[in-house]
Amino acid sequence: MRDLAGTKEACSINTATLGFQKPIRQTIDAIARAGFRYASPWRRELKDESIKAVAKHLSDAKIAVPGYYRSTFLPAADKAQRRFAIDDNKRAMDDAITLGAEYFPLVVGSLHEGSKNITEARKQVLDALPELLEYARRNGIKLAIEPLHPVYAADRSCILSLSHALDVCDAIEGTTREPSLGILFDVYHCWWDHNLPHDIARAGAQRRIFGFHVNDWLRNTNDILNDRGMMGDGVIDLRGIRGMVEAAGFNGPVEVEIFSANDWWKKPLEETLKIAAARLATST
Ligand code: ZN
Repeated sequence: MRDLAGTKEACSINTATLGFQKPIRQTIDAIARAGFRYASPWRRELKDESIKAVAKHLSDAKIAVPGYYRSTFLPAADKAQRRFAIDDNKRAMDDAITLGAEYFPLVVGSLHEGSKNITEARKQVLDALPELLEYARRNGIKLAIEPLHPVYAADRSCILSLSHALDVCDAIEGTTREPSLGILFDVYHCWWDHNLPHDIARAGAQRRIFGFHVNDWLRNTNDILNDRGMMGDGVIDLRGIRGMVEAAGFNGPVEVEIFSANDWWKKPLEETLKIAAARLATST
């Protein structure tokens, strides 16, 4: 297992961690000044920006981009909306490629307004993925499915475990030496799963672990969406999980992603970055 002490260069900051407080260029500069060499931005931060100019800013700051967050939800009430979602994701993939991102993260979506049919939502995801995968392959980017915690089953994802995400990869891409469809493993979503050792080993054997998010689950969480903890402040066995993920072959950047509306998002960027670097070393 890698020693993360003093190796911020091996770690990434997902810009959501900093609460979108500053314009993207200032966020990138703060991350670079703090000594990190990777950052993953969000589409919402770049919607009024020239993607090319931000790409240049990133490369001038010597910051590489693991992922560009994130997909538009795939299930929808009618065919036209499902078509829009696929095309919108292709446009976002184009931008991800301009930014030099390694993968495009897929949070796939779940029940559209009025639906009670999660089976249908899953079918719509499976129907949409081959076209997206073909587009990704043709343009040289990977697709990383991020399975979410089951608490998000209603509105955000109908893929709710690592094993389900891997089943989807198998169904869509089959077995291949160089997969373009894989998973983004976020400890927040998967830490509780009793099958984790088996599923992480399976993902690693298939070379499908594209990304790795760290944060913590607070014992008395106030908000399932925006009350994530800093590494070390909650109940997740971060070292144990990182050990399994790295033993399975993952050697990419360890990415900090903390949604925390009432705590970390209210702190100055510099303070959050400094504490994140320290906790990567001591508690991750
Ligand atoms: Zn995540």
